[in-house]
Amino acid sequence: MSYVAWASDTGEDALERIGGKGANLAEMMSVGLPVPTAFFVTSGAYAAFIEEAGIGEKIDGLLSDVDVDDNDALADAADRVQQLILDREVPERIRSDIVDAYDRLEEDGDADVAIRSSATAEDLPEASFAGQQETFLHVDGPDEVVRRVQECWASLFTPRAIYYRVKNDFPHEKVRMGVVVQRMVDADRAGVLFTRHPTTGDDRIIVEAAWGLGEGVVSGRVSPDNYVLSREGTVQDATIATKDTEIVRADDGQGTLERTTDGRADDRVLDETHLDRLAGLARTLEDHYGEPQDVEWAWEEGELFVLQTRPVTTIKEPETMNDTTSPTQDTELLIEGLGASPGTGAGPVARLDSSDELDRCEEGDVLVTSMTTPDMVPAMRRATAIVTDEGGMTCHAAIVGRELGVPCVVGAKDATSVLSEGQQVTVDGDRGSVEAGIQQTSETDETPTETTPTQAAGPARVPTATEVKVNISMPEATDRARATDADGVGLLRVEHIVLGLGRHPMTVIDEEGTDAFADHLAEDIRGVADAFQPRPVWVRTLDAPTDEFRQLPGGDDEPDEANPMLGWRGIRRDLGQPELLRAQFEAIRRLRADGYENIGVMLPLVQHPSELREAKQIARDVGLDPEDPDVSFGIMIETPASALIIDEFVEEGLDFVSFGTNDLTQYTLAVDRNNGNVANLFDEFHSGVGRLIEHVIDVCNDHDVATSICGQAGSDPDFAEKLVEWGISSISANIDAVDRVRETVARSEQRLILEDVRDRR
Ligand code: PEP
Ligand code: MG
Repeated sequence: MSYVAWASDTGEDALERIGGKGANLAEMMSVGLPVPTAFFVTSGAYAAFIEEAGIGEKIDGLLSDVDVDDNDALADAADRVQQLILDREVPERIRSDIVDAYDRLEEDGDADVAIRSSATAEDLPEASFAGQQETFLHVDGPDEVVRRVQECWASLFTPRAIYYRVKNDFPHEKVRMGVVVQRMVDADRAGVLFTRHPTTGDDRIIVEAAWGLGEGVVSGRVSPDNYVLSREGTVQDATIATKDTEIVRADDGQGTLERTTDGRADDRVLDETHLDRLAGLARTLEDHYGEPQDVEWAWEEGELFVLQTRPVTTIKEPETMNDTTSPTQDTELLIEGLGASPGTGAGPVARLDSSDELDRCEEGDVLVTSMTTPDMVPAMRRATAIVTDEGGMTCHAAIVGRELGVPCVVGAKDATSVLSEGQQVTVDGDRGSVEAGIQQTSETDETPTETTPTQAAGPARVPTATEVKVNISMPEATDRARATDADGVGLLRVEHIVLGLGRHPMTVIDEEGTDAFADHLAEDIRGVADAFQPRPVWVRTLDAPTDEFRQLPGGDDEPDEANPMLGWRGIRRDLGQPELLRAQFEAIRRLRADGYENIGVMLPLVQHPSELREAKQIARDVGLDPEDPDVSFGIMIETPASALIIDEFVEEGLDFVSFGTNDLTQYTLAVDRNNGNVANLFDEFHSGVGRLIEHVIDVCNDHDVATSICGQAGSDPDFAEKLVEWGISSISANIDAVDRVRETVARSEQRLILEDVRDRR
């Protein structure tokens, strides 16, 4: 039995025999695509190596009782297993098969090779992804080739790969791996292409290109040129980037190096002829595979090569795309604002000037008002879409709209004067537009809240080391939130439960007593804790501004504040009226005593450690012990002060922090988050906000305090990517964003592994 295979002798069992990457290359070669010559070290070679080296049991022994949640123990075990694999000689039979095949490659000319691990179907795709990433470029000479193959095998036991297998109950002894050995293309220009737009699925070919090897583009180290092509290859858009660096083959022929691009940093990488060839390649690949592809390509001395192709997995499903109005329809744009909750909804306008008129908004109406208030929620539930004059992405209408799955446009300035009562309109919550008439919308848009858990769960979830959780404000959104299969609830906003009681909380306490108030809270929190058990649910204590409380029956005594955002809200309010905090802690204590030990406590708008200290004392007083290792007790980081003196909070003692970027951004930039006049200045990507977050993550990581985010920015994949780089422990996203964020987190983690592997080389 040979331990290597060539494309021509792989068959049905290719995936099992040479792994996914190898099988894919063999398939491309079989249909005549321009793939550099390659051979494959079979998964049988790996199995034979382990067997002959007699290390199978040792590996099992080293991994059998490692606590994968203990980073040091995991890294140590991974290191030992890898060393076991690397210390053993590759048996002569396997070695000679590899060397003979390499010699055969050399007959074709220069046999500088790329060596890539190729995980097999027997291993879990998710568990093996870390191993799948191992790639060595410009490997030269038989000894070096055999060594790198051995290193690919060892990469099956990176900490991350071990972690995933354990978490997925996949036995380590069942893992297998093929290795691809492929002639290296010494590219003068290279990059990636998507046969369709990678997120919208638009019928356009997207090409990214840079000078030198494609690694620069794939790893994100070089900003590439971006070309948008029609299916036929016509250039529709070209953005030429400044490509300051390029990745090239190292002078000694081993590996690669990054160098400054000389003289051509701003030159266009691809001309029309190149692009025409790439468009042809895109069409062929998509026709062959029958689905959109993500392709790595390279150009060497005038010749085009395909290095890799795989299905694009990031295209949003139609129901989340919500691009459902027919493009050919003539539409009249009536008004525009911020698209705050995705989807389209159409119907007659119900214009509400105050919450006394809620009944006028009937099932299927488009609710139009200057700004929604908590007491409007019943009408918001009936609405098919919501439009407001004021507000930004984190205002009441936006949060509730997203959670109820009702499309919403906020900050539309003159909506209440431009749109008239009864007028038929279509609201597009993605684009932020309101158009005249009833445009065609998809069925899913019309019934967004009826998604069943199984439908919404979608394809198998990608496990990530950074946990991806979900935010819940309205208890009735629990089923939709649970259907995302999130790792827990990173924010349960209590105020929506409290405001949902229909009376001011102090009125409830005065009329029925603290216990009864705690009962009401416990009832609603229980549903969420139950749905997610045993995954953590962090209950955020009350944080509603005085102007929202004042609208509730019994709210007449609320102070009339000029600036409620800076006023009596969050933990300062609860410490000022400690019976409120006591009731919330009491509700949590009771639920924990009933077995819901997954409930944790999160305090909002903290700015000084004394607030944490006082709140803890109240918790202790009701019998909820913040020092109990089973009770997660944490704070939100929403004020720059709390970020700057995070060390003092750590010293005070806490289990986690969560970034409330809605408030943190507003207070860092002095931009009222609900004020449409300055909405253009509200920017979570501002480096001032970023530095605060990075600092907090650094300090917390040094002291084993978990870090999370539950502000709107956590639902933005670009922001999530940064957070993963900074080392956050979890990200809590809105229901509609969980899948997207999980995908981004997985990709970012894989990229970090790749960079880490390179750095270690
Ligand atoms: C935040 O400030 O980011 C946050 C999540 O809290 P809220 O939006 O409820 O103020
Ligand atoms: Mg906040």
